[in-house]
Formats: sequence, C-alpha cells, structure tokens
Amino acid sequence: MPIDSPSTTIDDDSNQTAPELPPLPGDLRDRLARCQSLPSLPAAAARVLDLARTQEPRLADFARAIEQDPALTLRLLSLANSAFYARNGLQVTTCTAAVSRIGLDATLAAAMSFGLPRPGARHILDYDYLWQRAIIAALAGQYLAQRLSPEHAGRVFTTALVQDIGIMALEAVDGDAYCHGIPGLRDHGALIRAERERFGCDHALVGAWLAASWGVPDHLAQGIADSHGPLEDHDISRLCLRLSCRIAEAWLAPEPARAISDLLHQLASLDTLEPNLLTGVLQQLQERLPSTARLFEITCPPNIDAITLLTEAKQLLFEQNLRISRHLAEQQTKLEALNASHVALDKQTRTDSLTGLANRSWLEKLLEVHFDIAKANQQPLSVMFIDLDHFKRINDAHGHRFGDRALIHFAGTLKRMVRGSDIAGRYGGEEFLVIMPQTRRHQAYVLADRVRQQLSKGPLAHAGGKPVHVTASIGIAALEDDEFANVEALVDAADEAMYVIKRGGRDGVGLFHD
Ligand code: GH3
Ligand code: MG
Ligand code: MG
Repeated sequence: MPIDSPSTTIDDDSNQTAPELPPLPGDLRDRLARCQSLPSLPAAAARVLDLARTQEPRLADFARAIEQDPALTLRLLSLANSAFYARNGLQVTTCTAAVSRIGLDATLAAAMSFGLPRPGARHILDYDYLWQRAIIAALAGQYLAQRLSPEHAGRVFTTALVQDIGIMALEAVDGDAYCHGIPGLRDHGALIRAERERFGCDHALVGAWLAASWGVPDHLAQGIADSHGPLEDHDISRLCLRLSCRIAEAWLAPEPARAISDLLHQLASLDTLEPNLLTGVLQQLQERLPSTARLFEITCPPNIDAITLLTEAKQLLFEQNLRISRHLAEQQTKLEALNASHVALDKQTRTDSLTGLANRSWLEKLLEVHFDIAKANQQPLSVMFIDLDHFKRINDAHGHRFGDRALIHFAGTLKRMVRGSDIAGRYGGEEFLVIMPQTRRHQAYVLADRVRQQLSKGPLAHAGGKPVHVTASIGIAALEDDEFANVEALVDAADEAMYVIKRGGRDGVGLFHD
C-alpha cells in the first residue's frame, strides 16, 4: 500500500471530527495539511469505518466491504483461525464468520494496519522496530485489558497497534531532518522530548490528528493522543495502553531484564496493578508473538523466555532497591546535616533579611536534597513559583518602603498558608518559591489557588487609609510532569508555567504542560 495519497489531508474539517483533541501547533498543522505523502488510510479500512458510522451496520455488510480486498480477506481468515481466536479448533472459511469471530475492533485494526507503511528501502527510520513495537504493544495491551477492563480489550488492541502512526507522519512531513534530529526510536521518553522541542508537540498528538482526519471513532483518536501519558492514571483502559508501549520498549531493549526491572520499580508505586499481571503479560508475549508476527508479516521480535526474564529482572530490582535504600540513607544524613547546619549557620546566610523567609541559595540547597530523595524513591514533589504582578507600579505609586512592607506582609501570609513540610522562600525581588515534598501537581494547585484567593480577599497594605491589593501569577511544576534532569529544569518549568499566566493577563495559577 503506497503512502502517497492526496486524499489524506489534515484540514479544518478534522477539527470537527475530534474537537476534544488539543490543537496542533500552527506551523505543524500547515505542514501536515500540505504534505502529500502522509500515511493514508487503507481503502478497506475506510470502507469499514464508513459502515461503522451508519445507523445499524450488519455483519454481512462489513464482510462484503472487506471481501473486495482479497489479501486482507485472507489475513482476516488466518487471524480468526489463529490459536488465539480459534475456539474448539473450528476453522472459519468465510469473511462473515471471520469478522463475527474476531469482532469489529480487531477487524478495524487488521484493516488499518495491513495497509500502513512497512519496512522498506524508502524509509530511513527502522520500520521493522516500529512494527515489532506495535505488535508487542497491541498484544500486551489486549492481555492487560482482558484482565482489568474486558469490555475495552478490543479498543486497547487497536489503539496500541496504531499509537505510533504519528512517527510515520512526522517522517513524511520532515523527512531526513526528523530522522536525524531525533535520538532514535528506542527511547520513547527521549524521542518525545526531542519532538516537543522541535515541533511543539509529540508524535502522539500528530498521530491522533492523522487518525481523526481519517474519520476513525473519537475514542481511537483520543486514545492515540493519550497514549504516552504518565502511568499514574485511574482510567484503566488508558493505563493498559500506556503500559503496553512501555512493555514493548522493554521487550525490545538491548537489556530486557534491566528494562523490565525498571518497569517493575515504576509499577510498585501503582496500587491499581497486581504484581503478577506482568508475569502473565510476558508469558502471553512469549507464546503469541511468533504467530502474530507471521500474521502481520513482520520480522519476529526476539524470542525471550518470560520466566528467565522476570527472574533476572527481579534480581536486578532487588539490587537496585538495595542501592536506593543506601542512597536514601545517605540523603537523609545529608538532610539532617543540612538541618543541623541550619541551626549552626549564621542566620544571615540562609534567610532573606527583608522577609525572614529562606533565601534563594538556601532554597536551592534544600530543593537539591528533596529532588534527589523524591527521584530515588519515586515520590511526588512539586514546586510553586510566585511572581507578584505589577509590583513596580506599587513602588512607583507609594514608594519603595511601602513596597517593602507589602513584601513582608505577603511573606508572612505565605508562611502561614503552607504546610509544615513545605518550604517557602524568597527567590528574588518580588518572586517567591515554595518547595512541596510529597505533593502532587493537583494538590499544589489547590494551595496555589488558595494563595491567590487570599490576595484578592485581603490587601497587602494600606495607603492613605485605602487598601492596596496586589495579585500574583503562579506557576507549578511537579516531578510527575516530565523527566526533569535536575532542579534547575524543575524550577524553570514552574517559571515557564508562571510566564504563561503573565502573558495571559496575570492573577492566576498555571500548571506546567497545561
Ligand atoms: P510583572 O507583573 O510583569 O511581574 O510586573 P512587575 O512590575 O512586578 O515586574 P518587574 O520585573 O518589571 O519589576 C519588579 C519590581 O519589583 C521592580 C522592583 O522595584 C520591585 N522590587 C524588587 N525587589 C524589591 C524590594 O526588595 N522591595 C521593593 N519595594 N520592591 C522590589
Ligand atoms: Mg519578576
Ligand atoms: Mg512581578
């Protein structure tokens, strides 16, 4: 199936297909709209979709739509007769029976995927890897969903299978520049960061828009857009999907045991999943990958013994936990030492002389330690960056000393409002920072909004008997937002979120990435 299809365009109509998708950055949207070589929806899949949208589609209609494509028909029959679907060994021989056996979701998945670009000389990217990843993710996602949310198993399979079509689209739009500008396909976290830097969004959103332009059901486009979010999510089918690609990446990693051990470590903090589930997924992959790979005509991914893999991964995890607890103990000692020096140190070196809050260098030292602890222990951590609005005007109107009193008043209010475990400090001028250990972004948001409301209720000072109100622009970044490499990146993110509020008119709270 050629990828050149002038009929596949992203135009303003696609806006109406999936209104809840976040917008694409303008420049990228135009380039996608102009691109003539985007992956196109295979004709048979288009017919299946058209039918699915009609009032009461009948099975026979689907079968007839598919039968026009003999190659697809053959593959659907082998899919229906594969070990996974063939119950009691009965062979199906007609398209209608095949569709009836595997269900509409799997039929659509098959129709869509069989026509998408395959490994070939014309691609720079490793399509073999992409397809292996897609198949593993689809199988893993389906297995998880069958156990956790059976009614969504078909959907998860389809979405997992096509979740990375955005990579194909970005290659079509940006060609060599994309392929050489990304750090490869094997580290999805790094890939996504590089894409966001280059395009202002990642391939998940591009893939979602591409799928929406094909007219796929909303849940499918939305699922693709959501596919790379964090694992902390209470929507079970989304969790299955997000886990599916991580499992695929681990299976295909140069050191699968290490990658699975990292995954086990991440899963340990999720209360939604029982630990044995991963064992089941890996065994399922070991059993089903060879036949599924044959069916989808891709090179079979490495055959790994699931039990050996898990045993090695658990051993590595055990060693890693030992290292972490040792590291944690070291960090605790460091924190205690810091706190002790807090007492011993000259008060001037750690507090801000005007407000009495922690000063910037003290804040940075404390943040460094809390950052390490939170990262090592996979605990949440949020920071809040507060910049008072139009403070220069306050000074200009009432004098610098008046401004000073307002800053002191604000510092006192802030200190009273944060919890005992939070650390509020003055970052500089009319800028404040709050470090919130063990706090997720939405909890930080609640506090920030309370600070903002407090400012609107109570004036920071009075001039000539009249209250002077000051507003603030507040930005929040949390460890769960991104893989922040260091504290500077985390503070920068909160600062960035604050600037979005400034640009939008001030007096508000913004979360990084929103
Ligand atoms: P914006 O809403 O864009 O943040 O406007 P702004 O005026 O608050 O920001 P800008 O960065 O332009 O100016 C910061 C002002 O804060 C200017 C400076 O005089 C005042 N400021 C900084 N530190 C102090 C201080 O210690 N005391 C007093 N009184 N004012 C200060
Ligand atoms: Mg400022
Ligand atoms: Mg300001």
